[in-house]
Amino acid sequence: MDALSSHWAAMAVVVLALFAGAAALLLLRQRDRIVRQAAELAADVEALNDRLWTLADSEEHYRSLIEAQGDLIVRRDGARIVYANGAYAALLGLGEAEVVDSVAQPRLIASRPALALDGGARVFDECLATPDGERWISWVETVVPVALGRTVLQRVGRDITARIAAEQDLVEARARAESANEAKSRFLATVSHEFRTPLNGILGMSDLLGDTGLDPEQATYVRALRTSGEALLGLVDDILDFAKVEAGKLELVSERFDLGLLVETVAELMAPRAQAKGIELAAHLAPDLPSHLKGDRDRLRQILLNLVGNAVKFTETGGVGIRIASEGSMIAIDVADTGPGIPEDRRQAIFEEFEQADNSPARRHEGTGLGLAIVRRLAVLMGGTVDVEGRPGGGSLFRVRLPLSAAADAAAPTVPDWRGKRVMLVSGSPFGASFLRETIAATGALATLAGDAEQAMAALQAGPRPDAALVDQAIGHDAAIALAEAARAAGVEDCLIVLSPLERRQFGSPRDAGFTGFLVKPVRARSLYERLSPRPAPVAAAAQTPSLYPHRASRPRLSVLVAEDNEINALLATRTLERFNCAPVWVRDGREALAAIAAGLNGTGPSFDLVLLDIRMPELDGLAVARAVRTLERTSPGAVPLPLVAVSANVAEDDRVAALAAGMDDCLAKPLDRAALQRWLDRVGAPQALTLSA
Ligand code: ADP
Repeated sequence: MDALSSHWAAMAVVVLALFAGAAALLLLRQRDRIVRQAAELAADVEALNDRLWTLADSEEHYRSLIEAQGDLIVRRDGARIVYANGAYAALLGLGEAEVVDSVAQPRLIASRPALALDGGARVFDECLATPDGERWISWVETVVPVALGRTVLQRVGRDITARIAAEQDLVEARARAESANEAKSRFLATVSHEFRTPLNGILGMSDLLGDTGLDPEQATYVRALRTSGEALLGLVDDILDFAKVEAGKLELVSERFDLGLLVETVAELMAPRAQAKGIELAAHLAPDLPSHLKGDRDRLRQILLNLVGNAVKFTETGGVGIRIASEGSMIAIDVADTGPGIPEDRRQAIFEEFEQADNSPARRHEGTGLGLAIVRRLAVLMGGTVDVEGRPGGGSLFRVRLPLSAAADAAAPTVPDWRGKRVMLVSGSPFGASFLRETIAATGALATLAGDAEQAMAALQAGPRPDAALVDQAIGHDAAIALAEAARAAGVEDCLIVLSPLERRQFGSPRDAGFTGFLVKPVRARSLYERLSPRPAPVAAAAQTPSLYPHRASRPRLSVLVAEDNEINALLATRTLERFNCAPVWVRDGREALAAIAAGLNGTGPSFDLVLLDIRMPELDGLAVARAVRTLERTSPGAVPLPLVAVSANVAEDDRVAALAAGMDDCLAKPLDRAALQRWLDRVGAPQALTLSA
C-alpha cells in the first residue's frame, strides 16, 4: 500500500471516529433528556396520584357525611336511575349497584302538598312502602345540570316518620283533651243546672215560710237558711257560668242600657254587705260619660258584681270604690279597695280558674276561685281586658277596659257651669269624699273637704261662706243635723244630706231635719247637678219604694195555668200566684197542659188568662205545647191568642229564641221573678190585654 492510500485511510478512520464520537454524544444527550422527562413524568404521575387520592378521600369524606346524615339521594334521567346512594337503595330493599340503571320506584301510599321554593326547587312529603314498613320522606327535588348540557332530576330525601308520628300524636292528644274539656263543661253545666232546681225550691220555700208569721227566733233561722241557700246558689251559678263561657256557649247581646242605673243596682245589691262590715261603698261615673251604652248589660253587671263582691269580701276597714270613665274608645271601669291587696307574684294566677291569692289549704277561704276567671273570660269575650294592680296606700285596684259605645240616642253629658261657687264636703269616707270632690271640681266650682263635723264647724265660722254643703250622714246623725243648722245660720244656700239606701229609709224627712235635700249613695253626678242647680229639687220628689203587690185589690182574679213537673217549683209558683190574688191551676206535664188549654178553648173546661209553661217537662215539653196551642188557635174561629210564658232554669239567649219561635210571648227565669210575673199579670189583667198578639 502506498503512502497516499494509507493517508486517506487514516483520514477516514479519523472522520469515522469523529462521527462515532458525535453520534455517541448525541445519544448521551438524548438519553439524559429521556431520563429527565421520565423523572418529570413520574413526578406528574405521583402528583396526579396524590390528587386522585385527595379527591377520593374528599369524595369518601362527603359520602360518609351524606351517609351519616341518612339522607336519601337519587338522580334520574327520565325514569332511569343514574345515581342512587345506599340509603335510597335501602329504601327499595336493594343494593346500590342494583338500582343504578333501573327504573325502580318505592310504592306511594300518601303524599302531602308540594311547596315551591326559590330557585326552582320543590319540597313535598311522601309516605312510602319500604321493606321496614311505611316511612314518611320529605323530599327536596331539583333539576341539576350534568355533562354536555344535559340535566337530571335530583331528589334528596329525609326520613320524617318520627316527626309525623309525633304530630299525629299531638293532634290526637289535643282532640282528646278538647273532647274531655267539652265533656267536663257539659258535665258542669248539667250538674249545676240540676243543682239549681232543688236550690230554688229551698230558697222559694224559705221565702214563703218567712211570710207565715214566725216568731223572732224562727225568723232568724229562716233568714240563715235563705242566706246559706243564696251562697250555695251563687257558687252553683259561678260554676254554671264558667262552664258556659268555657264551652263557648255564651252569646253576648247588644242592647241599650242605662249605665248609671246599672252601677246603682250593683251598689245597691252590695251595699248591705258593705254596711254590715262597716265599710264604705262608693261609685263615681265621670260626668262626661254618655247616659246610655250599647252592649251586654247583664254580662257587664256580672263583671261588676264579681269585682265589687270580692272587694267587699276582702276589705275589713276603709271601703270600696267603683269608678267609671271614658278612655278613648273604651269604657274604663276601676274597682279599688282598701283591703289586703294581692301579692305581686299572684296577680296573674288569680285570673286562672280555681286559683286564690293564697292557695295553701290552711288559708283557703270560701269561694270557688272562679269569679275572676269568669270576669276575665267575659271581658275578653267583649273584646276588652282586665288586670289588677296594687294601690299606693294598700289594697287592690282591678281595671277593666271594654269597647262599649254610646247608645244611638244616649243623652249628651251635661256638666253645669259652677265657676265661682264654693261647695263644702263633710265626709270621712276615703272613696265617697274624693269622688264627690271630683264631680264638683268638674263644674269649675271649688270643693273643700272637711273630714269631720268639727272641721266643718270651724270652716263655717272661719269663712269664706260656702254656697252649698254636702254632709255625709256617716259622720254621725246628730252631728249632721247640728251642722245643717249651723250652715243655715251661716247663710249657706243648699245643704244636702248624703245617705246610704238603708239610711234613706230610716232618715225621715230631710227637710224636717234642716236639710234642703238629700242624695243617695253612691251619688250620681247627674243627681248632684240636678239637686244643686238651679235650685234643689223638692224633697217630696223622692222615689217611693214600689210595693210588691200594688194591684192586688184592683185587678180581677186571674186564672193562671201552671205547667210544671217539679212539685216544689209548682207549689212555689201556685203560692206566689195566690198571693197575687190569682187562681192558679196546676198540671204536671205538657200533655195535661195541652188538654186543659184545649178544653178552655172549646168551652168544655175553664179558660185561662195566662199560662206558665215549664220548658222541660215529661210527655210533651213546653215548646211543643206552645206550638200545639198556636196551631189550635189558628184553627178555632174567633180564638183570642192566649198569653204563653215559658219558664226555664236555663235562660240562655238560645232558649229564649227557641221559646219565642215556638209561639211563646216571653221567657222567664226560674226561680220566678216576682216583679216579672207581676208585670205579666198586670198586662193580662188590664183591658188592653185582649189586643195582645201571639
Ligand atoms: P273566689 O273569691 O271565689 O276565691 P275569685 O276568682 O273571685 O275567686 O278570686 C280569686 C282570688 O283572688 C281570691 O280567692 C282572693 O285570694 C283574690 N282576690 C280577689 N279579689 C280580691 C280583692 N279585692 N282583694 C284581695 N284579694 C282578692
